[in-house]
Amino acid sequence: MIKCYECGKGNLLKKQAEYRQYDILIGKFPAEVCSKCGEVFFSSESVDKIEEKLKKKNLWGLGSQTTIGTSGNSLDIKLGKKLVEFFDLQKGQRVIIEPKSSNRFEVEIVK
Ligand SMILES: [Zn+2]
Repeated sequence: MIKCYECGKGNLLKKQAEYRQYDILIGKFPAEVCSKCGEVFFSSESVDKIEEKLKKKNLWGLGSQTTIGTSGNSLDIKLGKKLVEFFDLQKGQRVIIEPKSSNRFEVEIVK
């Protein structure tokens, strides 16, 4: 039996494991799951299949780098087309911005 790459204690068991992206269930794919810590390791074939499904569902590459611009006396951040479509954002949409650490903040869409 192969030991877990994460905890080194549990045995890896072949299973169909769920893959979720942004809380959206993408499907079940062949994986090895640790009997101790529950860590899931998808096979390289599964990773390819997952990538393909994410691209089909337009969930691939939503994270991106952008540059802070200016708008009058304040700064603004432009959101790419993929993010705008994923969150169905429109001009005037209210959001809450909250600092999370010295180099990270979170933006919550007010529903
Ligand atoms: Zn483990």
